Amino acid sequence: MNAHPDKASARELVSVLAEAFTHPRGSNMGWATVGLTELYTDRAAAYLEQGGGSVRLGATAVGIIQDADRFRLDLRDGSTIETDTMIVATPPPRAAELIRRIALDGLVSRLERFTPSPILGINLWFGRRVLETPFVGLLNGTIEWVFEKRALYRETAKGNHLALVVSASDRLLGASDDELVEIALNDLRTAGLIGQDDEPLHSRVIHEKQATYLRPIEDPPIGAATDLPGLFLAGDWTNTGLPPTIEGAVRSGFRAAELVVEYAGRKKTPRS
Ligand SMILES: Cc1cc2nc3c(=O)[nH]c(=O)nc-3n(C[C@H](O)[C@H](O)[C@H](O)COP(=O)(O)OP(=O)(O)OC[C@H]3O[C@@H](n4cnc5c(N)ncnc54)[C@H](O)[C@@H]3O)c2cc1C
Repeated sequence: MNAHPDKASARELVSVLAEAFTHPRGSNMGWATVGLTELYTDRAAAYLEQGGGSVRLGATAVGIIQDADRFRLDLRDGSTIETDTMIVATPPPRAAELIRRIALDGLVSRLERFTPSPILGINLWFGRRVLETPFVGLLNGTIEWVFEKRALYRETAKGNHLALVVSASDRLLGASDDELVEIALNDLRTAGLIGQDDEPLHSRVIHEKQATYLRPIEDPPIGAATDLPGLFLAGDWTNTGLPPTIEGAVRSGFRAAELVVEYAGRKKTPRS
């Protein structure tokens, strides 16, 4: 959920539990043995290019304007892209900025009400292999998950690298990197995963302050369709029924793509 119970949607938790435990193949334990770029990003880009599309990396969109029934996307480098159908798939604050000029006031203010939720990652490299299993969940401490990169990625990971994760880590935002590493080492020692004398050779803390975005629980979810024909929304924060996750993002992409196909079909065969 990447949110504390006072901010998390119980409805989304119920969806996860229902999918996981009531569908015959709803839950299974698995993990990628390569990084996410290799797992799906490269192949998704190749798929789009095979279909005649193009992928532009590092191209920052700064605004969308509408001219008759076409949209124009302005990019920071001064270039523009024109189209009659557009899916805005950025996080909510960026989506609000992008659509501000096309007068979707109600939608803009709803997008601005989302708040970021952080995820803390602490990477520790040891001089010896300290964990044989791919991952361990910890209870009653600060660290929630410990991943052993060599066991996860097999031969591709280098060194004895542990990646530790804390979700919804708001309470740790003020801590220094040294303090966070100390907290992590204490938790690993308490759990018996490292000895009292084990010290990391190297450490790296990555605190993703805007890891996911939370909709205020009193607000209704935002769907993929907008009031503007041809303009659609996608992202883990749209109405997928799931908390903000990769699975939610994938489902939102399918939903937006279905709506684009329907819209294109309606445009081709206008009702008389
Ligand atoms: C540290 C961390 C750990 C996580 N762990 C998990 C996990 O274990 N399981 C899980 O399911 N999920 C996890 N998540 C959440 C998961 O990454 C998100 O749910 C998912 O990536 C959301 O996908 P998305 O396509 O909605 O948004 P994003 O992946 O955020 O994609 C939005 C894209 O929009 C681009 N963009 C933004 N502004 C602009 C602009 N102005 N112009 C052009 N492009 C722009 C961004 O660069 C980005 O590529 C984790 C997230 C983080 C940060």
